[in-house]
Amino acid sequence: MSTPLPGACFCGAVRYRLTSDPLFVHCCHCLNCQRQTGSAFVINLLIEADRVELLAGEVDVVMTPSNSGKGQKISRCPHCRIAVWSNYAGAGDTVHFVRVGTLDEPDRLPPDIHIFTASKQPWVVLPAGTPAVSEYYDRKIYWPKESLERRAALLARTAKR
Ligand SMILES: [Zn+2]
Ligand SMILES: [Zn+2]
Repeated sequence: MSTPLPGACFCGAVRYRLTSDPLFVHCCHCLNCQRQTGSAFVINLLIEADRVELLAGEVDVVMTPSNSGKGQKISRCPHCRIAVWSNYAGAGDTVHFVRVGTLDEPDRLPPDIHIFTASKQPWVVLPAGTPAVSEYYDRKIYWPKESLERRAALLARTAKR
């Protein structure tokens, strides 16, 4: 990725940019994501929180239930209420799950994996060649080595604080 990827909420009050490639991109077909988006799935890119630069506005953080039962914090624009990213209890506050659809060029980041396909809409046909799992997955099997190293570095930084 040569340039930082910019994104925004629907009204434009919240603007941000990604300062590097993401760690990984999920297309999630779980029923929670279907209900939250009112659509068939959500596309979330995973990236270190400090690689998401807020350029304008502030986000409102709303606690929302998640599959793990531990909840997720959804960051929304305080005006149009569109969700720009989430933080799940598992990955914590240091990893943002950014909604790929809020990028200015969402086609730049197609999914690396389809997850929770057990509840996928039957008319959604998954592309051959992209991994798909019925629920969640083992990151050591699917993530590129570079992303695993970035995650290890992030955990080391977090532990030092
Ligand atoms: Zn907005
Ligand atoms: Zn989901």
